[in-house]
Amino acid sequence: APKKYYEYLHSLNDRQKEAACNDVAVPLMIVAGPGSGKTSTMVGRVLTLLKEGIPPSNILAMTFTTAAASEMRERIGTVVGKAVAKEIAISTFHSFCLQLCRTHAEKLGRTSEFIIYGHGQQRRAVIEAERLLENDKNNGVGDTTKQYDADIKNSFKDKAKKWQKFITQAKASGRTPEDYEMKGDLTGASVLRHYNEILRSCNALDYHDFINSSITLLTNFPEVYKECQDMWRAIVVDEFQDTSAMQYCLLKILASHNHITIVGDEDQSIFSFNGADVSGFDSFRRDFPDYKEIRLSKNYRSTRAIVEAATALIQNNSKRHHRKLVETDNPSGCKITVKECHSEDSQCAFVIDKIIETTSTTAEGCNFGNIAVLYRRQVTGKAFQVSFRNRKIPFNVHGVAFYRKKVIKAIMAILRTTLPGCDDGPWCQAFKALLPCDKEEKKKIIDHVEKISLARECSFISAATDIFSAKVSGTFKRSQITQGRKVLSTLDSLSKLVEREQSVSVIISSAGDMLPQKYLLEKRAVVDIDNGKLLNEDSDIRSVLQFLMDDVSDFLSTHFSSSVERSKTDEKGCASTLQAFIDYISLRETENFRSRKEENKNSITLTTIHQSKGLEWDVVFIVQANDSEIPLLHEYNCTVKEAGSTLEEERRLLYVAMTRARKKLYILHVTVDSNRQLLQPSRFLREIPVHLLEVQGEETLRKMPEQPSGDIPFDDSEGNISIGKPIMGQNEVSPYPELAQGCLANDFLRKFDIDDRSVVSHIFHNWGKKQ
Ligand code: ATP
Ligand code: MG
Repeated sequence: APKKYYEYLHSLNDRQKEAACNDVAVPLMIVAGPGSGKTSTMVGRVLTLLKEGIPPSNILAMTFTTAAASEMRERIGTVVGKAVAKEIAISTFHSFCLQLCRTHAEKLGRTSEFIIYGHGQQRRAVIEAERLLENDKNNGVGDTTKQYDADIKNSFKDKAKKWQKFITQAKASGRTPEDYEMKGDLTGASVLRHYNEILRSCNALDYHDFINSSITLLTNFPEVYKECQDMWRAIVVDEFQDTSAMQYCLLKILASHNHITIVGDEDQSIFSFNGADVSGFDSFRRDFPDYKEIRLSKNYRSTRAIVEAATALIQNNSKRHHRKLVETDNPSGCKITVKECHSEDSQCAFVIDKIIETTSTTAEGCNFGNIAVLYRRQVTGKAFQVSFRNRKIPFNVHGVAFYRKKVIKAIMAILRTTLPGCDDGPWCQAFKALLPCDKEEKKKIIDHVEKISLARECSFISAATDIFSAKVSGTFKRSQITQGRKVLSTLDSLSKLVEREQSVSVIISSAGDMLPQKYLLEKRAVVDIDNGKLLNEDSDIRSVLQFLMDDVSDFLSTHFSSSVERSKTDEKGCASTLQAFIDYISLRETENFRSRKEENKNSITLTTIHQSKGLEWDVVFIVQANDSEIPLLHEYNCTVKEAGSTLEEERRLLYVAMTRARKKLYILHVTVDSNRQLLQPSRFLREIPVHLLEVQGEETLRKMPEQPSGDIPFDDSEGNISIGKPIMGQNEVSPYPELAQGCLANDFLRKFDIDDRSVVSHIFHNWGKKQ
């Protein structure tokens, strides 16, 4: 409806309108700070594409999380109607690429039912690759069983972490074994080659492969390229700053018709550990030379106090390409509360008090749904879950927690075993879940089956079948044989259900029925996924299953557009529907999915900062803002040299967190952690101008004087230069005429665009000696 389109445009400001309505044939880049309406403008852009006559099924919108995808679909739906919105491909990079790989699987040496390797299965493949490497070294001679003794297995396990990281990095940068060979890294090359070969022979792809293989498909197969060009006539990308180099490469190929819009903010780039690369903006400028760039500068989200505080913070990053001017017409609002707490418990108590205070003053009309608690690490959230539950405060935990639950993992593994070509991983996991004996005994049984399967070079399941049907002599007790047999027949009965084309719901609930009683004890699972009301203590596995069933209906409604098709597929729960469902769940696990149902609910959001991007709440608590958490430098184990850029990313993380708040921001830090370690407040807090803060609690922070433009006491082991301190003594003469005497170290860094403080220290140190 054109009327609604113009209504939507009317809600935008002039600059946003200009961007939304810009010629669709011109590549467009929208860069702007948080809360400036980037995502809103991107929605306007999609509406313009539709108005210009591009059919919805030819539009591809990339978002960073599945949550953002469904939010965008809803917003578009309110203007053009649900039916049209459903036809637009709003997708994450991963699900888009997965789809492409499935369609053209045979070109990748896979079948369309290929398996997705998650972290655990990847680890197993890495260990196997190491074993093959060892074999190569022995020129393939030697007895495979012998090499698999416990010691060697453990040494593989120790190194596996390192190799897994290596493989991830190789794939994130698109390097092939040949590349490593050329660099002379022969071991690296052969580990990677073995790993790829293992995945191929297991009919599997890992998460990085989706992207890389999609690029392969587009570059090596002209018919795939042609198909995509015809199909995706316009592309829009939100959160562009978190696009990895390989994802960008894919975009560039897809968008060779120039009909592309990218939207982002380099100051909010917080996924560099995942390969995200802000240099994408420069690449875009280079690769789409006739692009148009539009900057938005008004923040509509937050109060002036929050905008000013966040701006002051981010200005301490010296590596920014663009200094953005940020303004807001919003009222200044109340000051940011910085609260020092004696312990993690008192931190929880403070948050709960404030929540009750905020929600009981109905005048402000703030319900639980307008409040979020943000933290750096998932583990911090645990304490909050427990206290919220005790105080009967409704909450939901965003993200992967639910899909990482043991019981869900177990059910998914059991489901996977019914698919054709299932490899050892799920079988092994399913056995672990279904064997009724204790942990020790289970390990013994599984280790033995693995050993036999390696010795006979057959799969886990055929080894298990032979052992438990006593075709080969094993070392098992009679009771263990009986248990094993029972597991086999249980799994077999499930496969029969799939063969008989039962519906996905029936198959899942049968899988749930198979799990032994002990899963009933996993009561916290029920609390974690509770959205809204708290479930009773006696809730059991059934409620978890119920949530999974909700996923089934979500899945069916988003994957099959016509209701006829939906009822058909639900009745005929054939293997391919089950496969698609398993994909759907696997992607949710990696993409920080929040179910749509959890939205709009009257409950507090508990989430990590990483998962909070793009979202907003009236009241935000950033908890555990300590120097050990933000920045979390020890985790990176980095040297002073590396710390510069890491610190900047850590600062961006706090920046993202602060800019989620609309009206009121609380930042909490604790003085003593649960291990009685003394903690410091985050060094970044001192970069926020004091006049914007209301400091509560002890004096730690108040004692620290506010410094002009950033006071980061940088523990530089080599020199004595400290940011915020003059780099020279009173009587020294500067070797750099541009810099006056008494110039601050950070001015120097900025002036010369140096991000490595040790370099400065080195320069001045040597210069001092020469004098
Ligand atoms: P982020 O960088 O955090 O993703 P963003 O730039 O994508 O932020 P949006 O989420 O699009 O910003 O918008 C932030 C808020 O401002 C939303 O509540 C949106 O409705 C509101 N908003 C955007 N543009 C306008 C406008 N022109 N007038 C009034 N409100 C607006
Ligand atoms: Mg946004």
